[in-house]
Amino acid sequence: MADTQDSTDTYEKPSDDELRSRLTPEQFEVTQNAGTERAFTGTYWDTKTPGIYRCVVCHLDLFESDTKYDSGSGWPSFYKPIADDRVATKTDRSLGMVRVEALCGRCGAHLGHVFPDGPAPTGDRFCMNSASLDLEPSDDD
Ligand SMILES: [Zn+2]
Repeated sequence: MADTQDSTDTYEKPSDDELRSRLTPEQFEVTQNAGTERAFTGTYWDTKTPGIYRCVVCHLDLFESDTKYDSGSGWPSFYKPIADDRVATKTDRSLGMVRVEALCGRCGAHLGHVFPDGPAPTGDRFCMNSASLDLEPSDDD
């Protein structure tokens, strides 16, 4: 049912004004200014609903609920994206730490960070902000 989206589509990022009108202030702050929602406060940190988690800005399919797990962090955590090119990474040296920032592979929205303490099979923990995600529940739940 979920329409597959091709991440190689040409994508034109909406203007800040358009995004401000479409997103909540928290969604805008997290995705456009690399903000972080408070742990245990986001919409999806404890969600177990089956479905696809999409980028809240451009609706690219990012994560499947099958790869979501309880990391105890208070943020929605996944051990891998739907495909490697869905999530871009770059080194983040803010706050006096060296971390790996995770960004939407299409629109560049800030999603969260990747840590090397995740479960098998990848060992990665994609620690996301609920504010960056939009869950599309699957039909057969
Ligand atoms: Zn996006």
